[in-house]
Amino acid sequence: MATVETVLGPVDEGELGFTLSHEHVLVGIDARIYPWRYDLEATRRRAVAELREAKQGGVDSVIDLTTPDLGRDVKAIAAIARDAGVHVVVATGIWRNPPHSFWAREPDEIAEIFVREIEVGIDDTAVKAGAIKVANDVEGVTEVAERILRGAARACKQTGCPISTHHWAPLEVGRRQVEIFQDEDVPMDRVCIGHSADATDVRYLEDLLNAGVYLSMDRYPGGVGGRPDWRARNETVKALIDRGWTERLMLGHDYAPAAVRAGAPAPASGERTRYLFVSEVAIPALREVGVTEEAIQTMMREVPRRFLVGSRG
Ligand SMILES: [Zn+2]
Repeated sequence: MATVETVLGPVDEGELGFTLSHEHVLVGIDARIYPWRYDLEATRRRAVAELREAKQGGVDSVIDLTTPDLGRDVKAIAAIARDAGVHVVVATGIWRNPPHSFWAREPDEIAEIFVREIEVGIDDTAVKAGAIKVANDVEGVTEVAERILRGAARACKQTGCPISTHHWAPLEVGRRQVEIFQDEDVPMDRVCIGHSADATDVRYLEDLLNAGVYLSMDRYPGGVGGRPDWRARNETVKALIDRGWTERLMLGHDYAPAAVRAGAPAPASGERTRYLFVSEVAIPALREVGVTEEAIQTMMREVPRRFLVGSRG
């Protein structure tokens, strides 16, 4: 049986269970640069409380796609994961704000950095990345971003570690991501195109699927900034299931508990954690429109496991 790297070390693939495809534990926090801005202990407690609640609600694992330019801190995540009892897969890669040092880096040098974090460890820890994150938004795939995509592709080919993307679906930026991965000869079943539920055009999503990739149907519940709300996301998921794509779909929220600012009052509790929206709202509604239990188990358990393990499984 294959193992999957998590922030607390390798885990048997059979233990992954119910897995959310695209989440964060701590994100967008510059506490490593400006620690005085945050109440880190309260932030940590809040993340632990929400992940525990998620675990009690049936979530066993989350794929945390936080990169260095999103404030990744694997030591903090490890402490939270240990207390919460949830498996957290962490990522190498770069989001939309590559550090200046990346502006002139060639793909092979970028691949070397990602491979190091996959095979040796992140920062000065032995925590190994279980996924490679890349991101292209409204700006499309810029020149620097293309070199990062090619670096991710080469790191994936060298290690078998899967790639999970952020993409701006309304402009169909996933097409260019797929093109570059194909050009680099990445096995397409090592690739997941993320934020795909921001699109409602099933033909576009099927074009991506026909290339052999997985789709992360995430950002539940959505509905902000004119983006599809959870009902529209469900409709797209249902349409893809009806067309036979269940084995290529995963669900998630792209959620992280908010950081607590220094001196701020403790956050009000009582509200259900967002990590459970898919379990408690989206999935029951999918059942109501006729999605089978088998299809749900496939999307929530089988597909993420296969995506993380690859041909080693
Ligand atoms: Zn995200």
